[in-house]
Amino acid sequence: MRLALHPKAIGKIRRGHPWAYREALREIPRQLQTGDVVDLYGDDAFVGRGLYDAQNPIAVRLYGHDEREAIDEAGFARMFARALARRDGRFDENTTGYRLVNGEGDRIPGVVLDRYADVAVLRLDGDAIAVHTETIARVLRPLLEARGVRTLLQRFTKRKTPPLNDTIFGVAPSSPTEIREHGMKMLVDTARGQKTGAFLDQRENRARVRRWTPPDARVLNLFSYSGGFSAAAALAGARQVTSVDTAHEAHGTAQAIFRQNGLDPRKHLFVTADAIEFAGARAAEGDRYEVVVSDPPSFARNEKSVDRALASYAKLHAACAAIVEKGGIFLAASCSSHVPMEAFLQTLDDRSLGTDAFVLRETFGLPFDHPTLPSFPEGRYLKLAVLQRSP
Ligand code: SAH
Repeated sequence: MRLALHPKAIGKIRRGHPWAYREALREIPRQLQTGDVVDLYGDDAFVGRGLYDAQNPIAVRLYGHDEREAIDEAGFARMFARALARRDGRFDENTTGYRLVNGEGDRIPGVVLDRYADVAVLRLDGDAIAVHTETIARVLRPLLEARGVRTLLQRFTKRKTPPLNDTIFGVAPSSPTEIREHGMKMLVDTARGQKTGAFLDQRENRARVRRWTPPDARVLNLFSYSGGFSAAAALAGARQVTSVDTAHEAHGTAQAIFRQNGLDPRKHLFVTADAIEFAGARAAEGDRYEVVVSDPPSFARNEKSVDRALASYAKLHAACAAIVEKGGIFLAASCSSHVPMEAFLQTLDDRSLGTDAFVLRETFGLPFDHPTLPSFPEGRYLKLAVLQRSP
């Protein structure tokens, strides 16, 4: 089916942006159904091919710009082979958890595929791509088996219902799966863990914490979840790591990960508390840390909540800054796609922190197994700012 784009929407799609909103389409034939393949035309020229969604404000997500490439079984096989080939040979046995397909960033919108050792977990976002689940499962099997994956699970995350799982092939693991990140062991619950089981996007940042934590340091990890940053700091030789999260169960996993890495969790603190309140209480006691990590959940769910999110970041960052030891480092992360780096840095400036004691050492974005498109800033959600307090 051929659909014409409004003239003002053509440029964006030609630059490679993978979404056409409903208002970008001149008219929509009534017989069109969710999951149907559509060809987008601008000024009577082919611009791209995508899948139609009858409900979503994003009416079409694009999977290709070459008129000769269909979106069918062979087409999906080609797309997935390209995405997997981008990672081939880039990881050794010291890193067995990484993203194989990063949706829009790999030009396969709505498809996330993560690898945890010999288990892969698929997540499909949107009803249009879900129509093609069986085809995707068929093409993935040989590609994954050729790379040593024995099990493919599918995770469903519908809001307000608990995550549900399906086994596409292989045998679902009955206990958490052990992976390695630059040699550090981690346990991943592929059935119940957040996202597809773990936050793989922070892998390189966890490795940075391991490199930068001085021996004997006191480390505070706020929003610690299963304790990846905490274990990294403890492996570096930190004297005491304090992990803070409101999710009590997460600390059990964090302690198991410590033991897995030969670390004694009894030497460290695992606190179930609100991160800002905890930081405030430590400041009042005069406690200081050589390393503070802050990795909160997304504060801005949509464009409208950005101002409120920025205010929350500023409050959190001021609370963190007050407890960083002289010469210490403060790693502030944000995973809100609606908050770009420059806006995020404003929540770390002198006025926000209430001091001129900090400088910005470095900033980081997503690792290479989470590629993005130059035309699609929405994809660059992860930001890490590394600040240092004057000695
Ligand atoms: N740093 C983690 C990921 C953090 S995800 C990693 O590398 O794996 C965000 C975490 O923040 C979740 O575990 C959630 O339970 C926790 N959280 C949400 N609100 C919180 C709050 N107000 N105080 C402390 N933790 C909170």
